[in-house]
Amino acid sequence: MAEWRSLLRPGGTPPVRGDTISAMPAASSETDFLVIGAGVAGLRAAIELAPAGRVQVLAKREVKDSSTQFAQGGIAAALSDEDEISLHLQDTLNAGDGLCNPEAARVLVEDAPEQIEELVAWGTQFDRDGTKLTFGREGAHSRNRILHAHGDSTGREIQRALYAKVKTLPEISVREFEFSTDLISEDGRITGVRVIDEHGQHSSIHASAVLLATGGMGQLYLNTTNPSVATGDGVAMAYRAGAEVTDLEFIQFHPTALYLKKAPRFLLSEALRGEGAYLRNLEMSRFMAKYHPMAELAPRDVVARAIMHELESSRAKDPVVYLDMTHLDEVHIRRRFPRIYSTCLHYNVDITAELVPIRPAAHYAMGGVRTDLDGRTTLSGLYAAGEAAGTGVHGANRLASNSLLEGLVFGARAGKKMRDELKAPVQKVSELPPAAYSNGPVSVPAEASVSELQDLMWKDAGIVRTGKGLKQAIARLEDIGTRVSRPHSRREFEARNLQIAGMLVARSALAREESRGAHYRIDFPDHDDVKFRKHSVLRGEKIRFE
Ligand SMILES: Cc1cc2nc3c(=O)[nH]c(=O)nc-3n(C[C@H](O)[C@H](O)[C@H](O)COP(=O)(O)OP(=O)(O)OC[C@H]3O[C@@H](n4cnc5c(N)ncnc54)[C@H](O)[C@@H]3O)c2cc1C
Repeated sequence: MAEWRSLLRPGGTPPVRGDTISAMPAASSETDFLVIGAGVAGLRAAIELAPAGRVQVLAKREVKDSSTQFAQGGIAAALSDEDEISLHLQDTLNAGDGLCNPEAARVLVEDAPEQIEELVAWGTQFDRDGTKLTFGREGAHSRNRILHAHGDSTGREIQRALYAKVKTLPEISVREFEFSTDLISEDGRITGVRVIDEHGQHSSIHASAVLLATGGMGQLYLNTTNPSVATGDGVAMAYRAGAEVTDLEFIQFHPTALYLKKAPRFLLSEALRGEGAYLRNLEMSRFMAKYHPMAELAPRDVVARAIMHELESSRAKDPVVYLDMTHLDEVHIRRRFPRIYSTCLHYNVDITAELVPIRPAAHYAMGGVRTDLDGRTTLSGLYAAGEAAGTGVHGANRLASNSLLEGLVFGARAGKKMRDELKAPVQKVSELPPAAYSNGPVSVPAEASVSELQDLMWKDAGIVRTGKGLKQAIARLEDIGTRVSRPHSRREFEARNLQIAGMLVARSALAREESRGAHYRIDFPDHDDVKFRKHSVLRGEKIRFE
């Protein structure tokens, strides 16, 4: 075994669970289906797969460490009496700014009611008024259609119910602290993954089909609402294996994350503005009407850029803008947003009585590993669903509360499709030689590289972009690439994945010489429908628009 001393991170912090390195040869095992990720997409897919065979679900930390767990506002579905599926579709297409895959968007909204009913049947407790489900409103939705649970803990409740259902299915085993490092391909087909377990042992798992449900990549940015697991591992692994990735220039920045020293960038849900919260600048003026007729309920990218503009126009040293709920009913706010209320109070901010300092933060990746409507990627045997996937469903910008839904709908569809793969025999399980990285000293300054990367992505590939800044970002990412290309520990693998994902975002953003949805270029401020009403597709060194 490698010495613990050599595993210390910069600054002498001890390794995390499973951060050790084993010199043992890589053992291998097999299962029928492998699902990497235990958020909404992975768990939903596993449930669909269970009737067809053995399913292993891997999570790189605990099951509760996922974006799903953090989702507050809710999940969208045209279920109320005043709503229609066609309206949900239209709102989704409008938010996508001309770039949604209309077929994917149609599938999303049409499958939504059935998926939600199933969730309810499995025990999900959505908030109700008496026996009737209650529907909230969020930005760019034309109807009240957002289901929520325990006020603002929707994702946590959905994940609880899905996990409870998974536990009733003996075919599914969920393994925590199993960090998947690379995909294994044999004869052009993905047949499994390499993993590091919680004891630092390397092994490989082979399966008939592999699903990437690894979530997003918010950790690319200095300010993000995403949990620490969101390091773009699935996208980086798929890209290294030769899969196509798509639409990665489209990163959604949430306009309102708590901005306090020593506090995480805790999300202050859009639903707060849906309930009537105002945005105010340092002069206490409501400023959103200057930027968009829908004011505080304008699309997220518009609100995020408006806030950046207000921040940059301010002469203050460390400027913020404020979310103001002081005019709203105090009891209602506490009851409707208990988690937000208590989290802010923990940081000494009473949201019902004071202005809340906020700034934008990276929130959601619209693009991902390119898939069809059944989760199939461009590599045989490999599937993707949820935030790691790029179905084109969100186009250039995601409509609020459509992503939990995406995980459910496309997780279920991918699971259904993967069952067919069982017809292909499970690949012969051969003992793999130990991976090149399985032993040796830790030489990569992972933590320093990640901080440098997050800083440069925020400045040069963030909310407002220029060709010059993106070229600088690419040059610096290339340099970081030379430092993180031979990973040993989990954190070093994450550093390499972030470097690859960052490069994919920056290259796609540089190639898209227009502004659309969440991608805003000062040097190309308008749409260019002729050249760019198309999806970016990246594979290896090549990028194309189609
Ligand atoms: C603060 C916050 C609030 C949000 N609010 C909403 C909302 O109100 N409504 C909405 O629709 N959406 C919301 N979203 C977005 C939504 O939560 C996510 O897009 C969605 O939950 C993603 O689900 P997923 O299953 O794709 O990934 P996740 O839920 O992030 O799960 C990813 C899983 O992959 C695992 N994993 C990652 N890498 C590896 C690896 N290398 N090896 C093994 N396992 C790995 C992780 O451990 C985890 O289990 C919010 C997101 C955040 C961060």
